[in-house]
Amino acid sequence: MTTTIVNRRGGACTACATYVPPGKGTCTKAPDGWTLRCPEHPATAADAVVGTLRQRLAEDDEQPPAEVRYTGTPAQVTALVEALKLASRIRVMSVSEPYERREEPGRISVHVRASIDARLLAAIEREEATG
Ligand SMILES: [Zn+2]
Repeated sequence: MTTTIVNRRGGACTACATYVPPGKGTCTKAPDGWTLRCPEHPATAADAVVGTLRQRLAEDDEQPPAEVRYTGTPAQVTALVEALKLASRIRVMSVSEPYERREEPGRISVHVRASIDARLLAAIEREEATG
């Protein structure tokens, strides 16, 4: 028995990682939460099982993803997003549609959600604790 509803929040398709805007795609209830799919990858009954396996493999998904906003020319923003995608131990989960800065002609902003490796976070927290 699966429950599938219209997606109300933007996020990355779990099949292809394409950004799915609110109102598009579907959300399917899995034991560990909701599985978001873009219109090209409709949810299947297997998603509930896959969701459970994914949760077991990805312990770093216990925290909600970090968010960053990049602002600049379209080329600058593209370069920053690509650099973040190449960063080790950081996984880009979704990139919003670019939006124009009304007060800053020629500049755009995007919001990026990224999950950071739990081991890296633990190492940073240890360093901060010892000064
Ligand atoms: Zn997809």
